[in-house]
Amino acid sequence: MEITAIPVEGYEKVVRAMDPASGLCALIAIHDLTLGPALGGLRMWPYRSEEEALTDVLRLARGMTYKSACADTGLGGGKSVIIGNAKTDKNEALFRAMGRFIDSLGGDYITAEDVGIGIRELEWIKLETDYVTGLSRDSGSSGNPSPFTARGVMRGLRACAEEAFATSRLDGFHYAVQGLGQVGGDVVRGLSMVGGFLTVTDISEERLAQFAALPGVETVAPDEIFDVECDFFVPNALGGVLNDDTIPRLKCKVVAGAANNQLLEPRHGSMLHERDILYAPDYVINAGGIINVSIELIPGGYNERVAVEKIENIYTALKAIFATARRDRCTPAQAADRVAEQRLAEARNANPLAGRASS
Ligand code: NAD
Repeated sequence: MEITAIPVEGYEKVVRAMDPASGLCALIAIHDLTLGPALGGLRMWPYRSEEEALTDVLRLARGMTYKSACADTGLGGGKSVIIGNAKTDKNEALFRAMGRFIDSLGGDYITAEDVGIGIRELEWIKLETDYVTGLSRDSGSSGNPSPFTARGVMRGLRACAEEAFATSRLDGFHYAVQGLGQVGGDVVRGLSMVGGFLTVTDISEERLAQFAALPGVETVAPDEIFDVECDFFVPNALGGVLNDDTIPRLKCKVVAGAANNQLLEPRHGSMLHERDILYAPDYVINAGGIINVSIELIPGGYNERVAVEKIENIYTALKAIFATARRDRCTPAQAADRVAEQRLAEARNANPLAGRASS
């Protein structure tokens, strides 16, 4: 396997692996180690180019630094991507090669699930490295983080309902949900159960058909989701969905969902604000999964009760961010960034040597 470093300003370490024997082409980005080892999921996606994959992994890794800082997980930020098709290209040799790639970083990067990756692939990775979380409960690990991410999103939606509609009830609202995968599927089931009206979409017709039968659920084609008249727009697919083209189309009061990097650029947070749409900063509302896996790493090992208690705090964290945004006359996205940056600055002041990659 050939591993090469890619110098990127502002990042602790970015590395690329090519392994002709298994067909692995992967990138790991470690953004910041100030608060601890960089933990972030592995994504498998058919990127059209390596440049596109690099852009994605860099944005995702930085988001993990901010997410962990806000959620106080004691972790730094990193992420990895495999360029490939999760439906057709998965095999043990590929993921074992990924495991060796992760191991080569000596623990600075710890992986978990993200889009296209489940427990089976992590178990293959585990054959080559210990720097992996989110494995099966039977093995003493914390399991798939997605249900915990969904739980955090539900808590976050309540905080948004209070801010935008002065009620913490979620019934009776209309939700437009993009993406019905591991997290989005659970969010839709939860919202249907509490009596929400849902218009949902997914690029997978199979998934769409699975959810069409739930009470209160209607389906639309993927591109139509941005035009749905609703109270909440809930993005649970990929990043960059809030941009110059989509924001003017939105007919909602709140945007709050699990997808990472929802804002294509930071200025899109201001664009939402100008349209009087409340935005729940993605890395605050979707922190349930990272909180859950982080509990695996504390002394004494994984404890679901401790994880759930901490995930419930997403509600309080969002309320505090909305209050700060109101007080400081900034957007919620800017308020969240300030919280994260302040925590990182305090840690660096307390220990100026914190956050150096070990290899
Ligand atoms: P997933 O792969 O299980 O689900 C993603 C779904 O989105 C799939 O069903 C896919 O078909 C659909 N999709 C993709 N592009 C779409 C489009 N343009 N329109 C409609 N549907 C589309 O992934 P997941 O684990 O549920 O993660 C969803 C999002 O949440 C990702 O952005 C991920 O990074 C983020 N996230 C996930 C977790 C977690 O615990 N899994 C934690 C934090 C953040």
